[in-house]
Amino acid sequence: MEQITKNVFTETKIRGCNPSIVLTREGAVFIDTAQLITPLLEMRNFALQHGPIKALINTESHIDHIFGNHWFAGECPVIGHEKLIDTFWKIPASFNMTTYEYMLDVIQRQDPEGLPFMPKEEDYIINPPSITFSDRMTFKSGDHTFKLYYTPGHSDANISVYVPEERVVFVGDTVFSDCQIWLHSCDPDALLNTLHFLSTLDVDYIVPGHGPVVKKEYLKQQAAFLYEWLSAVAYGMSKGWSKEECVARISFADRCPVDIGQEDAMDYIQTANVRVVYDYLLAKV
Ligand SMILES: [Zn+2]
Repeated sequence: MEQITKNVFTETKIRGCNPSIVLTREGAVFIDTAQLITPLLEMRNFALQHGPIKALINTESHIDHIFGNHWFAGECPVIGHEKLIDTFWKIPASFNMTTYEYMLDVIQRQDPEGLPFMPKEEDYIINPPSITFSDRMTFKSGDHTFKLYYTPGHSDANISVYVPEERVVFVGDTVFSDCQIWLHSCDPDALLNTLHFLSTLDVDYIVPGHGPVVKKEYLKQQAAFLYEWLSAVAYGMSKGWSKEECVARISFADRCPVDIGQEDAMDYIQTANVRVVYDYLLAKV
């Protein structure tokens, strides 16, 4: 794990999201959970050395953020956006397998040490948020304030977690730093609004959903990359290309890698991104 500030820790170098911990006087608050079991258990042990686990916040419902919720069942409240419930524990239908099968395959291939700790399907506890909100929510733990904001765009249930005492905001997949951006569930208008909103926060560090921790300046780069996607597909449409012709001709695969451990998702990302942006632009004209 990487220590960002006195009380903020995150793990950016594993497959899946960047799970994070804020240590407070009353115990640890988790922001998302590791997708692989070995680092998940290491982070839990680290937190428990400093006291109880006070809460788990899910920034979104994509499986790499919520698979680990099982290991927090009965231990602490889980908090997320009210829309999270609709898509919780669901993966794209095109994967052609159940969510459990998908995760078992990931653990077998990428975390064999964690395999003995993988529960049987009937024992797995999905553990979705028991506390939800629609727009904003604030709670305290010890001396720390957790300001939760609804920040849609990457999906319709994304939230951000601002901890002013540490001058850090955890933004989930609103930001992919130095790696491919997933637009498969994206509303570009909402994402641009969210990026602007985040730029108004008084922070030193942004913990993204994927990739290294960044400064506020990176928000402009993320918006610029989104505009590049929009303009590339808009150009194809102006030439009369169909959606599938756009898929065949447009790719940003050479721009940057996919986040760690998901290299085989490159084609899926490029294809899904083109289709989502195409449909978005088609609805505009
Ligand atoms: Zn996501």
